[in-house]
Amino acid sequence: MTTVKSSRGCPLNCSFCGYTLAQGLRFRFRSPDHVLAELEDLHRTHGIRHVVFRDPIFTTRKDRVHAICDGILERGLDLAWQCETAVKVLDPELLEKMAKAGCTHISLGVESGNDEIQRKHCGAKLLDHDQAQSVFDACRKYGIETRAFCMIGFPEETPAMVEETLALVRRLDPDQVQFCAVTAYPGTPLHKMLAGDRDLDYARMTGFRALEGNEHMTAEEIEEKIRGAYKSFYLRPHRLLRELRSPRRLAGKVGRYFSLFGKRGA
Ligand code: SF4
Repeated sequence: MTTVKSSRGCPLNCSFCGYTLAQGLRFRFRSPDHVLAELEDLHRTHGIRHVVFRDPIFTTRKDRVHAICDGILERGLDLAWQCETAVKVLDPELLEKMAKAGCTHISLGVESGNDEIQRKHCGAKLLDHDQAQSVFDACRKYGIETRAFCMIGFPEETPAMVEETLALVRRLDPDQVQFCAVTAYPGTPLHKMLAGDRDLDYARMTGFRALEGNEHMTAEEIEEKIRGAYKSFYLRPHRLLRELRSPRRLAGKVGRYFSLFGKRGA
């Protein structure tokens, strides 16, 4: 397997985002033919069978993704691939095509179930929960595994707002979920937004460790919320049964859970 980058930049400008910090807000993309030539070379010359697209938001231009998928099918490339994107730039028709063209996994930025936080921090990329549901349902229908990225600890976030996120992610029911602690990377809009004397140890950042609290929750409470979020998602009876059907994957998830929180104490 290998990684491919078919575009750079993301216009959504989420306040916490490291992608836009490194790549900017302007979406620049390679043509479908340019991407397909690389995929063909990787597959036919180098025997690559799995590609991870490392674009910040792969389906920003749906027509481009349709063309890439058509090209994969026309060229008969037997590739499995995965990408990251947002539900508002996906629809069932595109997902069906992506699945046919070898897409096996999509990581989706859900971030928060609260509209105020969505607008202020998350590029308003998930305001329509029914549309999001249709995307997650279509992924399931077409055999694409999903992972939902969620965040806890936005500056204005109350425990009740955290519950909105948990309710949304339980409703969407992705195959995997990831809860991160909101972290204000230097240089991001979030970092500029927060006033005060910031002397945080970024070298110890894991993404799961809350480096600071907000006005409603301490850092410890945010971490407790993250731990509780994993439990409330995976320990639902029907979900647990689903996990038990893939013991190897479950063991991986449990190991990852403990290794992430183990690093906290370091
Ligand atoms: S949508 Fe994703 S890549 Fe784009 S700014 Fe938000 S977090 Fe970053």
